[in-house]
Amino acid sequence: MKYVVVSGGVISGIGKGVLASSTGMLLKTLGLRVTSIKIDPYLNIDAGTMSPLEHGECFVLDDGGEVDLDLGNYERYLGISLTKDHNITTGKIYSAVIEKERKGDYLGKTVQVVPHITNAIQDWIERVSRIPVDSTGLEPDVCIIELGGTVGDIESAPFVEALRQFQFRVGRDDFALIHVSLVPVIHGEQKTKPTQAAIKDLRSLGLIPDMIGCRCATKLEKPTIDKIAMFTHVGADQVLAIHDVNSTYHVPLLLKEQKMIQYLSKRLKLSDIHISPETSLKGEQLYNKWTELTTQHDRSFEKVTIAIVGKYTNLHDSYLSVIKALEHSAMRCTRRLEIVWVESSDLEPDTESVNKANFHKAWQLVCRADGILVPGGFGTRGTEGMIAAAKWARENNIPYLGVCLGLQIAVIEFARNVLGIEGASSCEFDSSLPIEKAAVIYMPEIDKEKLGGTMRLGLRPTCFEKGTESSIIRKLYGGEESVLERHRHRYEINPALVDDIEAKGLKFVGKDEASERMEILELKNHPFYVATQYHPEYISKVLDPSRPFLGLVAAASGTLDKILEKDLKKYENDF
Ligand code: GLN
Repeated sequence: MKYVVVSGGVISGIGKGVLASSTGMLLKTLGLRVTSIKIDPYLNIDAGTMSPLEHGECFVLDDGGEVDLDLGNYERYLGISLTKDHNITTGKIYSAVIEKERKGDYLGKTVQVVPHITNAIQDWIERVSRIPVDSTGLEPDVCIIELGGTVGDIESAPFVEALRQFQFRVGRDDFALIHVSLVPVIHGEQKTKPTQAAIKDLRSLGLIPDMIGCRCATKLEKPTIDKIAMFTHVGADQVLAIHDVNSTYHVPLLLKEQKMIQYLSKRLKLSDIHISPETSLKGEQLYNKWTELTTQHDRSFEKVTIAIVGKYTNLHDSYLSVIKALEHSAMRCTRRLEIVWVESSDLEPDTESVNKANFHKAWQLVCRADGILVPGGFGTRGTEGMIAAAKWARENNIPYLGVCLGLQIAVIEFARNVLGIEGASSCEFDSSLPIEKAAVIYMPEIDKEKLGGTMRLGLRPTCFEKGTESSIIRKLYGGEESVLERHRHRYEINPALVDDIEAKGLKFVGKDEASERMEILELKNHPFYVATQYHPEYISKVLDPSRPFLGLVAAASGTLDKILEKDLKKYENDF
């Protein structure tokens, strides 16, 4: 197993995740099997209980793990499926060590950060890196480890120390480190001092950078590269210049241009790993497809506008996978994607401190959009605005996709305005809602007291109902009988209302295996009005866009018929 650690200095949020997943993707083009681990040095056990407004979206895995959004990047770039153990947090490590201590496993020893915590981290990494994550079912060759936060933080200290020890545990040929730093441009001049200081900090902790990834707004100039190399004691070929590019899909191309792979191959003796000619060819094809798609996308000028009507629109990272799934779909439809962000509460006319200007601006955005998307969410705030947006889409034949909460919203809107159930709502928005008005109810098996990890989570099958062969969404899924998608919810559609809803033309074309839980709805006689109780965005891939998202973008671009003509089964992710 070869390990490539990606750490960061200077500031957080400089794109370590994109650099790490791009590196993994390039290694994959060599025919290697690549996995990844994300380390988050916070005390939370997982991201499930963290506010999306603070940390960005909570990503959900097949096994129901609620993890950091960077794991989504890895899955999308590498075409892999990770497990909850691939996201290491301080909380998980400490609770494992404390549990062992309580069992008496440390035989009377004083339990300490060094060596007990640091050993637990190393053991965890070694164990998890070997888990097969792709369709081959084989152990990976390379593991990318992204260390969250910045080196030098109190929080990350035990992890930095564990990685320092780890380089000796696995040996020099199997361990390389890329440190990502920032090169600010002040009055037109690229400044290297923060990078010099960051590398000095790193070295003082016993870690040696093999490559330095320099993030910069402008193209790194040769003298800047030379200066960084000289002052940080590395060769100029070890300095990677990563300037701002118009899409993150270009980063692998940028790294390849700079011969990153040649350097890593030599440094980690990658040629010692046996790669069959077929896998090597597949790797090459992956690179070619990737380049083709990104350059083709650069040349597409026709625009498609999608309005995301949500409540966490102040931090776009709250909807990262949704954005990505839209991007993948727009690339497939050769359209330039324009996302307009609509804070759903702005669409509500009679909110207390209603700001008239925001109200009109928000409605203008919704009315101008080619398609409307109501993503997942929790709580009451802004839901009336979402209901209004769903009504607009339904009545005006505007393509609509509802995800999770977006499905519940569509049903509430339909119950109110088509079935005529005045005040129909969700028990989530009003806990004393009378049952005859409850379009959405609490799922019986869900724990009401404990919030962490207790929702209906992870990969579960949805089966298409009989007689749904002509359904658009089923066709988009290639006519399959059932689909596997990831879930994260506590509430569900009230089964008591289903017959009445269906009689008026809103069909639940997909249900769970027991046929009890409503999973996919589709409105008859509408160009595209689809919603899913699951989150299709979580398994969308660059080369294989999520089908419900593809449907929305294609319908909004006026190309749905063209997309449906193709054999959609062939759109498999053949990474
Ligand atoms: N709040 C809703 C539920 O728990 C929707 C969840 C979601 O959109 N992820 O069912």
